[in-house]
Amino acid sequence: MSLNEYNKKRDFSITPEPKPVITGKNRKLVFVVQKHQASHLHYDFRLESDGVLKSWAIPKGPSMNPSEKRLAIMVEDHPLDYAKFEGEIPAGNYGAGEVEIWDSGVWVPDQKTENVAKALKAGLLEFSLDGKSLKGEFTLVKMETSDTPNSWLLIKKDDGYAVHEKYDANEVSPH
Ligand code: MN
Repeated sequence: MSLNEYNKKRDFSITPEPKPVITGKNRKLVFVVQKHQASHLHYDFRLESDGVLKSWAIPKGPSMNPSEKRLAIMVEDHPLDYAKFEGEIPAGNYGAGEVEIWDSGVWVPDQKTENVAKALKAGLLEFSLDGKSLKGEFTLVKMETSDTPNSWLLIKKDDGYAVHEKYDANEVSPH
């Protein structure tokens, strides 16, 4: 989207300059979940969109059980490269503590979510994940309460990948 202008001015079959990362609606987009042992353990859920990672902090971690709706607090966009970050954020710094990639893969917006920016504004994202632990259809829906403006719920859809036992991300090994 924001790279349209850059794109228009260049013929990437000739110039050695970098091709834009976003090449079409059907491109597979990266998702990552990072287990973040900050002052409170949480899981950072990130979806690539328009060259950044849209990000939510999930205190309990994602669930593969459709009946376990997980609070997901939208936080600031992170750079794409953050999807590969693992390591220790030094004490005294923002988010100090260990960051570990818990799951990663690609995400595919459903038809209704094809325009991700619009879906984010509308507060409803429907998509599928193809990770190692997280698979199948999910919904992220914004909560309608004004006192918690950044609160969303991450909900697994009841599909062939869903589980019906309690799901605890802490008991699932990181990949
Ligand atoms: Mn975090």
